[in-house]
Amino acid sequence: MSQPPSSSIADGAVPPTLLDLRGLRVFVAGHRGLVGAAIMRRLASEDCELVTDATGTDLRRQEATERLIAGLKPDVVVVAAARVGGIYANSTWPASFIYDNLAIAMNVIQAARLSGVRKLLNLGSSCVYPREAPQPIPEEALLTGPLEPTNEWYAIAKIAAIRLCDAYRLQHGCDFVSVMPTNLFGPGDNYDPESSHVPAALIRRFHEAKRRGDPTVTVWGTGQPRREFMYVDDLADAAVFVLKHWSAPGIVNVGVGHDITIAAFARLVADTVGYAGDLVFDPSRPDGMPRKLLDGRRLEALGWRPRTDLADGLARAYADFLAGGARGPGRPLD
Ligand code: GDP
Repeated sequence: MSQPPSSSIADGAVPPTLLDLRGLRVFVAGHRGLVGAAIMRRLASEDCELVTDATGTDLRRQEATERLIAGLKPDVVVVAAARVGGIYANSTWPASFIYDNLAIAMNVIQAARLSGVRKLLNLGSSCVYPREAPQPIPEEALLTGPLEPTNEWYAIAKIAAIRLCDAYRLQHGCDFVSVMPTNLFGPGDNYDPESSHVPAALIRRFHEAKRRGDPTVTVWGTGQPRREFMYVDDLADAAVFVLKHWSAPGIVNVGVGHDITIAAFARLVADTVGYAGDLVFDPSRPDGMPRKLLDGRRLEALGWRPRTDLADGLARAYADFLAGGARGPGRPLD
């Protein structure tokens, strides 16, 4: 699958290339997930060799993961494998979210070091930041306060992965970097009503309500929280940009620079799907973080910009849903 190369670099201001991907072997752990698949699509337009795990290795198993990566001999590793889920999944399966994500990060990062990879990109999430972080959230807000309880299990594992990369850089000189994307959506999302994030959940709910002719659709929470949404192919473009042009300890935010209330977002999804009924809010469901807007100036200063407008991205995501691109339910394995 080939896509046109990125046009996201502003005004031709290209920063120095720290890693030339040409001819390198790149392994994307989690290549079938929302993020991993988008990164595979983006890497297809680079002159690198994509190596994949044909055997479906359980990355929570240390020896198996080390064997896999030693065998693939990648030059570059992208850690896009994770146990992910929305607000309900996170609070319902805390052990799966913390254990699976800690194990995956630990095993892949250690295996990458052992096999001598040249660069590793660790994917985190905006939920690593404290609940009361200043908005827009700067990278410096990491580890400055208590986390949002509805996703703290996932967040703790993701923070541990960031600090693992930093520790490996310090002790072993590894070029391991971490990016923190904002809330993502797009082709191949998980549309399971219980474990999905809000974009996929609402695409499905509005679609089904339209088909049945329901007069109302229920949206979780008060509708007042604010979220920043990014089309996943923009994140994939940022990931490749970071691989090439960024090398430093700590983290880099990847966002779009503006947010929207859940109520307004829900109306936009309804319009995308062509649902004309009313929205009903269910405040018995948790709102989660009141607001999550990333400060993206660090990446912007290097010249990277997202390019997909929210309405366009939602239209593409809905087209993918209609075409049957949805992933499985994404429930805990055990
Ligand atoms: P979060 O950013 O970690 O809170 O992830 P989510 O995507 O799960 O939720 C974002 C916001 O959307 C929260 O305030 C939810 O309460 C709200 N929301 C509204 N309807 C839904 C829904 O059907 N599913 C999910 N997951 N969230 C919803």
